[in-house]
Amino acid sequence: MSVNGTRELGISDLWRFTGTEFCDCEVTDFLAEGFSELGVRSDSVEARLTGRCIQCGATGTTEWVTLGNIGDGDDRLFRPVDPDTVQVLSMTALEERT
Ligand SMILES: [Zn+2]
Repeated sequence: MSVNGTRELGISDLWRFTGTEFCDCEVTDFLAEGFSELGVRSDSVEARLTGRCIQCGATGTTEWVTLGNIGDGDDRLFRPVDPDTVQVLSMTALEERT
C-alpha cells in the first residue's frame, strides 16, 4: 500500500477527534498536512497525523487516528472512514501499542 499521498487512498485532509490533549477544543477540527507514522492494527489502518486544528490554530502531531479499514473479502479493499465521524482518541490507546 502506498503511503505517499493521502488522496490516492481517498483519505480526507480534515479529521475530527476528541479525547486528546492536542488542543483545548472540545472537538478538534484537524487539517492534516502529512503523516508522522502509519500503521496497521488488525484490519484498521491508522496514522499519526501532522497538521493543525482549524478552530484554534494549534499545531503538532495527533494520537493514532483511524484512516480506514481493510475489508475481509478476497480483494482486501481499503475503505476510508467517514471523515465527519468524531473519533475518540486517547493516550491509553497509544500506550497499548508500545
Ligand atoms: Zn483546537
